[in-house]
Amino acid sequence: MNLIKMVGVYGLVYIFGLGIAEILWHRKKGIPYNWRESGVSVIDMMLRNGLGFLLGGGLLAWVAPWVQQIAIADLPLKVAGAWQWGRVAGLFVGLEFLYYWMHRWDHEIRWFWGTHAVHHSPNSMNVLTAIRLGWTQTISAAVLTLTPMLVIGFQVQDILGMFAFNLLYQFWLHTDMIGKLGWFEYAFNTPSHHRVHHGSNPRYLDKNYGGVVIIFDRMFGTFEEETEKVVYGLVSPVISINPIYVALHEWINIGRDVRDNWRYPARLRGYLFGPPGWSHDGSRGTSAQILDSSLSETAPSPLSIVTSTGARA
Ligand SMILES: [Zn+2]
Ligand SMILES: [Zn+2]
Repeated sequence: MNLIKMVGVYGLVYIFGLGIAEILWHRKKGIPYNWRESGVSVIDMMLRNGLGFLLGGGLLAWVAPWVQQIAIADLPLKVAGAWQWGRVAGLFVGLEFLYYWMHRWDHEIRWFWGTHAVHHSPNSMNVLTAIRLGWTQTISAAVLTLTPMLVIGFQVQDILGMFAFNLLYQFWLHTDMIGKLGWFEYAFNTPSHHRVHHGSNPRYLDKNYGGVVIIFDRMFGTFEEETEKVVYGLVSPVISINPIYVALHEWINIGRDVRDNWRYPARLRGYLFGPPGWSHDGSRGTSAQILDSSLSETAPSPLSIVTSTGARA
């Protein structure tokens, strides 16, 4: 069984178990379970799989034959049926590093945010949020951030298998039912860290990008501890439960800005590739500007805010 199949088989058992556990936990605590949000997430996954986009993995597989021509080594994870554990560890660490940057650019570059905003659209948290990832990955093409692993010499199916493991790990992070986990919080991504990532509180915007580990956030200054109650969702919440609108809402915003500014190349560059919330006339706010405003306690007009976790507030 190759890595991608192994991750798929064990992953299904894990997802199924976690989903049931969370529903039971909600019942026990008397907290209403948000079936509507869950339904949107399930439909999002079905549409993605139905459309065959597979998180842009197809794009990586498509460029692989070209990129592998300049690969500096050949590093299959299994040789003559034996796992090469040093290579597995190397692929894991390398992919975690690139995943950190891919996820960070998902938030810092509006073109990538067009797809990633979908994952941040739920206004409550449950494990099915993890499968709400949109289905426009092939358009935004952020997955090409992982291309250096091909250059190093890893096989595309191994890279996608490890990427699937990274995403499957993150399922259990999307929940309110698990508190802080002591020493584990230092090196690994946990539900507490990832709740922060999904927060629209100013201090939580664009924080905790890690996949399995949280060490790159600590290294690169994007770590934030969960200290105040998390307000989930976008700064401008998506209220609609129309799965098509949820998947395309930020692309619609981008399209509107392109339509209104196509005569001005500098503006177009900003609206397409600048940070979400950038505007040519300063009428909106990026995450950094919103944080600055909140720290200086000069509250911006709620009518003029646009953030990397939201459209117009
Ligand atoms: Zn994110
Ligand atoms: Zn998440």
